[in-house]
Amino acid sequence: MTEGPRDLLDGPAHELAAAVSSRRVSAREVAEASLARVEKSRALHGAFLHVASAHALAAAEEVDRRVAAGETMPLAGVPLAVKDNVNVRGLPTTAGSRILEGFVAADDASCVARLEAAGCVVVGKTNCDEFGMGSSNENSAFGVVRNPWDPSRVPGGSSGGSAAAVAALAVPLALGTDTGGSVRQPASFCSLVGLKPTYGRVSRYGLLAYASSLDQAGPLARNVRDAALALAAVSGFDPLDSTSLRSASPDCLARLEEGAAGRKVGLLVEAESPEGGLDAGVAAVFEATARLLEKAGATIVRVSVPRVALAVATYYVLATAEASSNLSRYDGVRYGARREGEGLAALYRATRSGGFGPEVRRRILLGTFALSSGYREAWYGRAQRVRALLALDFAEAFRACDAILCPTAPGPAFPIGEKGADPLSMYLADVFTVPASLAGLPALSVPGGFTGEGLPVGMQLAGPAGSEPLLLALARVVERGTEPGGRPPGAIR
Ligand code: GLN
Repeated sequence: MTEGPRDLLDGPAHELAAAVSSRRVSAREVAEASLARVEKSRALHGAFLHVASAHALAAAEEVDRRVAAGETMPLAGVPLAVKDNVNVRGLPTTAGSRILEGFVAADDASCVARLEAAGCVVVGKTNCDEFGMGSSNENSAFGVVRNPWDPSRVPGGSSGGSAAAVAALAVPLALGTDTGGSVRQPASFCSLVGLKPTYGRVSRYGLLAYASSLDQAGPLARNVRDAALALAAVSGFDPLDSTSLRSASPDCLARLEEGAAGRKVGLLVEAESPEGGLDAGVAAVFEATARLLEKAGATIVRVSVPRVALAVATYYVLATAEASSNLSRYDGVRYGARREGEGLAALYRATRSGGFGPEVRRRILLGTFALSSGYREAWYGRAQRVRALLALDFAEAFRACDAILCPTAPGPAFPIGEKGADPLSMYLADVFTVPASLAGLPALSVPGGFTGEGLPVGMQLAGPAGSEPLLLALARVVERGTEPGGRPPGAIR
């Protein structure tokens, strides 16, 4: 079979890398084909904020030289889309915000540098909710992103552009960041595998900080193996991130086909309660996934993580508090846009009121309040204590099971504009993703099926710190047992 670069873009990243490594196709040809699709998906879906043509072609030629020199790279020539809150040297970083207009990154984020070392070729920067604050990509200053499965719907957020780019077949792999679900929830909405690593597993150096105690970068891929390959590439200690884990990263690839036999999978009781507000289609996929894992030899138990009920409230105090402090650096003096005023206070006011969008301003106000003198203990202090108790809940649950299964989101992708006017309903829909973030645990979303309307539904697997190999092996079981979704209607040829 002859495979052109376009067919290779339709398939898994690991097959594309094999074709480039064996010189059946050059990285340059693949990059050209990908760039053409990136342009289209920018126009059709709003998935890209910046198309990095010159950067990509130069990087692809470098990969071809390395291949010719006999170097082996696990992701040789794989086009990579990078969320625009992650730095790529020489390219703009906007984080979806006007306040960073004109900013060009002086350095690569460590996760980007590691993916490039593994052979990836960055083809563009993807649209996202401003500074990662959102669940629908509607909070970007640069327009909405359309879901390739149904262009009238959101792709999820905040890594919406990254998810849309992979689902649209513009790239086989993308980097997102996940503070409270921003890799997993768009993966769920776009029928992708999305993984948030154990906190500290992947360096945060070069990520634009949203909530530093929660932020992690993670891959969005079309299959479990590609997600595992990308995770292996980005994992590991980095002296440039003070919270980077020193322990060796576990080998996910070796254990990928380990299966589910002998594993105990806990169904999250809190997801079954009618107050959880599960969509009927999502509930059906949840049940089917549990049956599938059981058939593969897993024992299914029911586990409770009682403080899941408090997780959204806790998360939105802590994340906004950290954001209020992190975003104070955008003052018109050091980075990006500057709006002059009479004196320093006026400069700050003009720059920040004009530069930040409404959701970011709301969160800075909420977070500043939660940290303010006289209220700090009641809000921030209490949320920190609930966070610690939630981690204890998880530890207790993991005495009864190896991993916890629940839907990634209570519903499938919703129509653009539906939740925009009601931030609280948007926050509440993060109910299943924020708990693992608060506890620092690894969690992934794997496609579990489709609703009756044909919208993708992702299932979340969460495990103890360092359990990425187990989660990926279980996800592989789900992947093998699930009818593949085929090409999304909005995929690019
Ligand atoms: N939706 C959540 C929020 O708005 C999570 C975002 C993220 O993970 N970056 O904060």
